[in-house]
Amino acid sequence: MFRAINKPGGRNDQAATAFARGLFASKAENHYMRAMQQSPDLDPTLPATMPIAGHIDPVPVPRPGLVDGVTPREDGRVDLIGLTKKQIAAVFETAGLDAKAAKLRAKQVFHWLYHRGVTDFEAMTDIAKTMRPWLSERFFIGRPEIVEAQVSSDGTRKWLLRTADGHDFEMVFIPDADRGTLCVSSQVGCTLNCRFCHTGTMRLVRNLTPGEIVGQVMLARDALGEWPNSMQRPRTDGSLGGGDLRQSGAMLPEAPAFAGAQVEGAGGQGNSWDNDEDEAAYTADGRLLTNIVMMGMGEPLYNFDNVRDALKLVMDGDGLALSKRRITLSTSGIVPLMARAGEEIGVNLAVSLHAVTKDVRDEIVPINRKYGIEELLQACADYPGSSNARRITFEYVMLKDKNDSDADARELVRLIKQYKLPAKVNLIPFNPWEGAAYECSTPERIRRFSSIVFEAGISAPVRTPRGRDIDAACGQLKTSAEKKSRAELDRLAEEKMAALD
Ligand code: SAH
Ligand code: SF4
Repeated sequence: MFRAINKPGGRNDQAATAFARGLFASKAENHYMRAMQQSPDLDPTLPATMPIAGHIDPVPVPRPGLVDGVTPREDGRVDLIGLTKKQIAAVFETAGLDAKAAKLRAKQVFHWLYHRGVTDFEAMTDIAKTMRPWLSERFFIGRPEIVEAQVSSDGTRKWLLRTADGHDFEMVFIPDADRGTLCVSSQVGCTLNCRFCHTGTMRLVRNLTPGEIVGQVMLARDALGEWPNSMQRPRTDGSLGGGDLRQSGAMLPEAPAFAGAQVEGAGGQGNSWDNDEDEAAYTADGRLLTNIVMMGMGEPLYNFDNVRDALKLVMDGDGLALSKRRITLSTSGIVPLMARAGEEIGVNLAVSLHAVTKDVRDEIVPINRKYGIEELLQACADYPGSSNARRITFEYVMLKDKNDSDADARELVRLIKQYKLPAKVNLIPFNPWEGAAYECSTPERIRRFSSIVFEAGISAPVRTPRGRDIDAACGQLKTSAEKKSRAELDRLAEEKMAALD
């Protein structure tokens, strides 16, 4: 996983090895290294950079950036958020601790970071006071920057976030009566261009890193004041804060959007996922953030490694410790990666089906031209870990006169039965945006569609749109995407399709 810091061979390599191990360190450093090996609690307060006597030019003390996949910031410090326990141990070791001390420290620091949510090394009370400056000189505990925070009249919250290199993306929190769902982004923009989705009108800027993905969860916990025994107050900037939420009644269930249809309480698909066995633990705990859905900006399976690594951190029992049953990954149908997602991540799967015929799906979810409906449904049937207790969710956006006929509903039922899928269907009223080529189906149509599927024995709730007034609803996330003309949208669509081949 990590690149060797030196390659076998010449003098420079030996120098590098010795360097990395601290053998060329000054007297004071050698003393420190010895001391650390005997007792990692002893004072490590040495300058971060010091000249080293000898036959090589002065070089800084070992910097943790030498570990593969870990890029230090401009000031040389490394963000620990997004790193696993092993990676933290590796960067500590590269920074000068011996293997045993590094492992011990990594375990402690990991707990502070991911379980307690501290953002300052000074708060790590079981780490010697004298070691904390050593840590803060070399490392930091990052969060995505909050550019803007909005609260909808229905209690939904949306944050516009910014990466350290200046790219904006969004995250949404949907409070509901019995759960709170965080809708997390995996990419800035998207390579795909589902024609009803505003994110699809953006080009892919870049994949989010594991730190930027798990950082969204950390930020939400900060904002909601939800770290265990938290001394941290909920942030007050941008109207954040769990206290506010609890008192304001924002957790009350919403009125159903379409009376008479089978209605789900809230916007995030998380609201309709399994009522799994650990529900009580979360509600009794009074937690607001109970579920995570990878349904923000981007296609998570096209950022597979980073999404997997981030979700592993979210599920780590020593850290955020969210059950895999409370996490759902939504994909537009990247067939070759679905089995891996089941095996390597193991969370619930949601599939953006949206159409049951080739023509319509080719149009509205163009990845269908590459991975067709049959292949997709077969991959669903093969998805590791799905069962009647853990059903796959098919998302189906309701587009007027496009995919919403009785025949479509019956075909949907037929397909689900043909592939013997443990499935439920989430009907999503289309959330309009300026320039979109579609309209939402009428409430009567949605009700009728829902009841055809439901009468065939398949759950088909209609998702109540949430946060529409702040553009936080599904498919409305766009950040700085400028308004494009129809011709530009068509050109972009062609360009994106060509890039897939
Ligand atoms: N890229 C992934 C996850 C993000 S989109 C995917 O496509 O599955 C989350 C869900 O919102 C998807 O089902 C998506 O199709 C749906 N969606 C996108 N735009 C929408 C819109 N304008 N109205 C309603 N749902 C939309
Ligand atoms: Fe990308 Fe999902 Fe939007 Fe399609 S629906 S464009 S895959 S974010």
